[in-house]
Amino acid sequence: MLKLINVLEQTVDNNIDEVMEQEGCCMCERCRLDARALVLNQLPPRYVVTEAGMAFEECKQAAIQNRISLYQVMLDAAHKIKAKPHHEETSKPLTYY
Ligand SMILES: [Zn+2]
Repeated sequence: MLKLINVLEQTVDNNIDEVMEQEGCCMCERCRLDARALVLNQLPPRYVVTEAGMAFEECKQAAIQNRISLYQVMLDAAHKIKAKPHHEETSKPLTYY
């Protein structure tokens, strides 16, 4: 079975929590999702067709060859979320970046 995945999204998912924790961010669900939205809206998606996880590691390696700039984007996002968390703005359920 073939699957269409955004390798970048998976990579961000696997790494953003660590970056946020390291930067002393709030780790509530809202802040963690806001950080993902912030990062993913700044980068072009990297879609690949893969056979149920096969070659996923290869795709991932290719996608994160510019890992340093991805790390920088994640770091910037963590700083923005930390400076202006949205977790208490219950009257504004949606955040656009
Ligand atoms: Zn929070």
